[in-house]
Amino acid sequence: MPAKIDMAKFAKFCKDNGFIFQSSEIYGGINGFWDYGPLGVELKNNIKQAWWTDMVRNPPPGPDGQEIRMVGLDCSIIMNPNVWVASGHVAGFADPMVKCPKCGASIRADKVQFRLLSKDGTTSEAVALSCEADNATDAEPILKDKYAKLAKKKVLPGGLQESPVHNATAVPADWKGIPVPCPMDGCDGQLSEPRAFNLMFESNAGAVQSDDNKVYLRPETAQGIFANYRNVLNSTRLKLPFGIAQTGKAFRNEVNPRNFIFRSREFEQMEIEFFCHPDESMKWYQYWRDLRKAWYSTLGIQSANLIPREQGKEELAHYSIGTTDIEYMFPFSDEPQELEGVAHRGAFDLTAHAKLSGKADDLAYFDEERWNNDGQSGAVPTRSFKEWLKSNPSAADIGKYKFVPHVIEPSAGADRFTLAVLCEAYHEDQVPDAKGKMEERIVMRFHPRLAPIKAAIFPLVNKDGMPEKATALYRELKPLMNVFFDDKGAVGRRYRRQDEIGTPFCITIDGDTVSGDVVTIRDRDVIGPDGKPQQRKVNIKDVKAELLKAITPGG
Ligand SMILES: [Zn+2]
Repeated sequence: MPAKIDMAKFAKFCKDNGFIFQSSEIYGGINGFWDYGPLGVELKNNIKQAWWTDMVRNPPPGPDGQEIRMVGLDCSIIMNPNVWVASGHVAGFADPMVKCPKCGASIRADKVQFRLLSKDGTTSEAVALSCEADNATDAEPILKDKYAKLAKKKVLPGGLQESPVHNATAVPADWKGIPVPCPMDGCDGQLSEPRAFNLMFESNAGAVQSDDNKVYLRPETAQGIFANYRNVLNSTRLKLPFGIAQTGKAFRNEVNPRNFIFRSREFEQMEIEFFCHPDESMKWYQYWRDLRKAWYSTLGIQSANLIPREQGKEELAHYSIGTTDIEYMFPFSDEPQELEGVAHRGAFDLTAHAKLSGKADDLAYFDEERWNNDGQSGAVPTRSFKEWLKSNPSAADIGKYKFVPHVIEPSAGADRFTLAVLCEAYHEDQVPDAKGKMEERIVMRFHPRLAPIKAAIFPLVNKDGMPEKATALYRELKPLMNVFFDDKGAVGRRYRRQDEIGTPFCITIDGDTVSGDVVTIRDRDVIGPDGKPQQRKVNIKDVKAELLKAITPGG
C-alpha cells in the first residue's frame, strides 16, 4: 500500500472494477450510501465470513486456555422503540449542531471553536472569532492567524485581548448573546444556538403515521443482543462467560458522511457482546482487545498500520469502564481512524433494560453451579435459591449467586474493514507493455481468504484438448470457491486482469496437462528470482487441496 492514495482515483478504480458503486448513481447518487458491485460483494462476504468463522464458530482459547463459548443471532432491524429508550439512543444519540442561515453550513457544535476579542477583557463591546477545529489547542493558531489578518486589513483594531477558546457547546454564561460568526471562509453569517440532531432514522410501523407508531432503524446491532439475552440463555443453557455475536446493517443519519465508505449512513456491523462475571471483566477486556487487533493481521493488514488507542477519560461514554479503539492508518488521512472499538460496558445495558422492562430477573444471571457447590458443602443449607432468599441473606451474599454480568463489546465495522482491506491490497507499479514502454498498473494483493476470486483457470489455447481439461477443473472447483474461467487473449494479459482484481492464483492448462495431467500454478505474491510471480508445476488432482489449504484459516 502506498503511504498516500488519492481518494478520487481510488474510488474510480473501485467503481471501474466492480468493487464499490455510488448508490443510485443514475439519479445523481445519494450522500452517504454505497453499493457493492460484483467483486465488492464477494470481498465483503468473505470478510464477514472470516469474522464469523474466527470469532463465533472457532474463537481461539481464552486467557486460561479454556474454550470460548459463542453463539450467533440475527435480529430485526426495527425493534420496539423502548429498546432505544433504554439504551439511551432516543434521548442522547444526538450531536448538538449549529447552523448558519446564510451559507447553510451545518456543523457539530463541539467542532466550532471560538474566542472573544475585547479592549479590556470584558464582554462589553467584545467581538467573537470562530473556526472549525477539533479542540482549543488546534484552534489557537488558526484564530490567531484570523485575527492578525483582520487587524492587518483594519477590520479590527490591533492589540485586542484574546480570551480563552471555547467550543459552541461550552459557552461561558457571560458570553451569551454575543453573536458567533460562521467559521466558513468568506461567510459573514451568524451561527444558530446548538440544537440536538438525532442520528437515528425514523419511520412508522403501520398504516397511519403518528407518534404512537414511530419506529427507528437500528443505529447498532448490539441492542438486539441485549434484548434477547434471556432467550439465548434459556434456549442454549450457556454458562458464563459466553458471547453472543451478530452481523448486520445499522443506520445513522450522519451529518457529514465522508471518506468514501468510511463514514456512511447505512453500514454493516460485526458485533460481539461477551458476558462475564464482574470480577473477571478486566481480564476479558484485555483478552478481546489483544485478540481483535491480532485478527486483522491474520488477514493481511500490516500490524504497523494498526494502532490500538485507549480512550481518555474525557472521551469515554459515561457507562464505560474502558474502551480501546483499534485504529487504522488509512492512506487518505493524516490521522489513524477507528476500525473497531473494544468497550468494557460494565453492567450498563442489561441494567438499563431491566429497569425499563421491569424484568430484572430475566436480565440477571444465576450462578446455579456455584449455588449447588456451596449448598453441598453446607454453606447454604436450604433446598432452593428461592427458599434461601426468604431467610433475608445479605446483599453481598445474594450477589455471589445472582448478579448482572459485565459486558465486553468488540464492535467492528464491516465496511470500514472492507475499505482497509482494499487500501492495504492496493499496489501501483510500473511494467513494460508489449512495445517495452513502461506503464502504470495496479495489483490488488488480497489475502487468499478475502480475495473475491480465488483462482483463474486459463486454457493456453482453445484447442488440443485443453479447453476440456480446463472446464473439468473449473467445474471441480466451482462448488467450493469462487473461480474464474478465461480463455481470451495472451496469457500475460490474462494475468494482468487477474492481478488488477486481486486473484491470488492463476492456473494454466497447457500441453503438459493434456499429456501428463500437470498444470502450472502462478502465485501472485510469491516473487521468484527473476522478479516475477513464481510459477510451479502441480498435478491436476492436487490443485483442489492446495487451493483449499490457502483459503483455510491458518492454511
Ligand atoms: Zn455561513
